[in-house]
This record gives sequence, C-alpha cells and structure tokens, in this order.
Amino acid sequence: MSIAENLARLRERIAQAARRANRNPDEIQLMAVSKTFPVEAIREAHDAGQRLFGENRVQEFADKWPHLRELAGTEWHMIGHLQSNKAKVAAELFHWVDAVDSIGLGQKLNAAAAKAGKTLSVLLELNVGGEESKSGLRPDGDGIDELLTAAAGWNNIEIRGLMAIPPFNEDPQAARPFFRVLKQYRDRIGARNLPRVRMDVLSMGMSHDFEVAIEEGSTCVRVGTAIFGERTKA
Ligand SMILES: *Cc1c(COP(=O)(O)O)cnc(C)c1O
Repeated sequence: MSIAENLARLRERIAQAARRANRNPDEIQLMAVSKTFPVEAIREAHDAGQRLFGENRVQEFADKWPHLRELAGTEWHMIGHLQSNKAKVAAELFHWVDAVDSIGLGQKLNAAAAKAGKTLSVLLELNVGGEESKSGLRPDGDGIDELLTAAAGWNNIEIRGLMAIPPFNEDPQAARPFFRVLKQYRDRIGARNLPRVRMDVLSMGMSHDFEVAIEEGSTCVRVGTAIFGERTKA
C-alpha cells in the first residue's frame, strides 16, 4: 500500500469511528507522525493532501526542515518530550509544542516565542497512567493547577488542550478508560475559563487505538505506522 492509499483508508476509518460515536468527522484531525521517516515520504503524504504533521525530536526536524519549508500549508507539531535547552529552537521551528509538562518549560517557550514575535500554541501532556517511565504532568498532583496559574502570565503562549499516551496495551479497548479520564480533565479545565487557556484540542489515539480514542472524544489522532509503515529506528 502506498502512503496515499494508507491516508485514504485512514480518513475513511476516522469517519466511520466518528459516525459510530454520533460525531461529525470534521471535528477530528489526522496528524501524520513522520519521525524517523525521510523527507521523500513526507512529500508523498503532502502530495496526497496531508497538511498536519508531528515530529518528536528537535534535531531531526531541524535537519529535515530546509527540505520541507517549501511544502505549502503545512502545520508542524513537536510531540515528543522537550528538554528545556531545546525550547528556544523548538519555539522557532514548530507551530505547536504538544508536550508541555512543566512550568520551567512553559516559561522558556514563552520567552522564545516572544523573541521570535509569535504566539505559540501548546498542549499540556498528562501522564494518565502514572507511569514512571513516561513524562507528563501527574493528573492527581498540584502540578497542573500551578502550571495553569503561571500560564496566565505567558503572553506568547496559548494553551489549547491536552495530550496523553496511555500505557501500552495490544488491546485498544484497554486505553478507553484513560481516554475517558483525559476528556474529563479537558472539560473540567475548559469550564474554568482561565486566561490564555482554550481547551479546544484533545490529542489522543495512535495507529492501534485511534478508533477508541475518537469514540471517547479525541479531536486529533497522531498516526505514524499506519501511514508510513513500521519504524526501523527508535
Ligand atoms: C510515535 C508517536 C506516535 C505515532 O505512533 P504510531 O503507533 O506509529 O502511530 C504518536 N504519538 C507520539 C507522541 C509518538 O511519539
């Protein structure tokens, strides 16, 4: 199957999952996660109409970017864990940073966005499974509230929503309770009408569980393998 065929098939499956949940398919964006894949593969996806992309390493994206900037209308999201010392480059290169998980990182991104003269859209990453190995804010701690309070003073950042990667399980149904909890957090934070916070995005669901995520309210599914094939590199 070609990348174009994979994308067409995915768009169909997204629409079907949306209809099962009585949702409008237009509410759900498909993000093509192109990490480890070469510029040619990304160009192929772009030729097939794909515009929203995610990468998880700043250096890898910086290397690809000179060859990608000519692709019209693309939107690039940094979806991986971001070290503070890469915040400046990330804020310059990416349109969105989807894995903000500390006040320190938010401050650095805000300062860098201010210098670059832009407003950066970000998502907060929640560690919904409470896994030691994963980054993200603990949903049960005070970290989220403290960050939301600090964010009121970040004039070059807008918090647009939440993202999470539930604990891996081959059975996509196992992710459902985690997706459900994430949506509850999104709704609760959104209802508070906080300054510089607009909870319109719920980024959840990957190649093996995006249909369940859509049934639970996802507005953005992040799909790599099912578009580009298996990754050989980490
Ligand atoms: C790699 C990655 C994905 C895509 O995973 P697939 O299983 O290949 O679809 C989604 N989200 C994040 C944060 C990733 O790092």
